[in-house]
Amino acid sequence: MLDLVLPLECGGCGAPSTRWCPACADELQVKCDEPHIVAPRLDPGAPVLSLGRYAGARRQAIVAMKEHGRADLIDPLAAALQHGLHHLLEWGVVGTPLTVVPAPTRRTAARRRGGDPVTRMAVKAAAGHPGVTVRNALRMRAWVRDSVGLSSTDRQRNVAGRVKLCTPVTGTVLVVDDIVTTGATAAESVRILRSAGAQVAGVLALAHA
Ligand SMILES: [Zn+2]
Repeated sequence: MLDLVLPLECGGCGAPSTRWCPACADELQVKCDEPHIVAPRLDPGAPVLSLGRYAGARRQAIVAMKEHGRADLIDPLAAALQHGLHHLLEWGVVGTPLTVVPAPTRRTAARRRGGDPVTRMAVKAAAGHPGVTVRNALRMRAWVRDSVGLSSTDRQRNVAGRVKLCTPVTGTVLVVDDIVTTGATAAESVRILRSAGAQVAGVLALAHA
């Protein structure tokens, strides 16, 4: 249905006649030393690892996937996440058995249509890694405002106490998210998971702002 109404253009740069062009694919290519550790303003108390800056094709693709219903971009974004996860396993930053927990997101139009895109990405990224499972354990309470335009203090206040655990998680956990900005959602997710008894090894994001 969506395919019929959406113009065929690259989700990263708008180039015509393709959904994801080679130049954008190249831009999202995970290099051998990625993800990198980043330092969001609010330290979640676990390493935050990012695959790149929230800019260019990466940013366009994330926005298109989340806000414009471009579910076809889940595959290329999940491939980058999978590659990043592979490096973390290879480097011993995380070990198996590992539970990947998608960061909670607001309800968006995209989520109502086809399910939470971060979760769908996480499931694809975990596929093919033996010993890695995905558990959609966190929810954001409904009244959380869109964080766009809020200061980091306001964001923290906006998120504090509003992430809830909806299914038990134990053992080693990696939180995955699309973007880490101030770190407020990551920090709250880590706090909730730890208080439930999980060992949070880190947070892996597609992008950091
Ligand atoms: Zn492109």
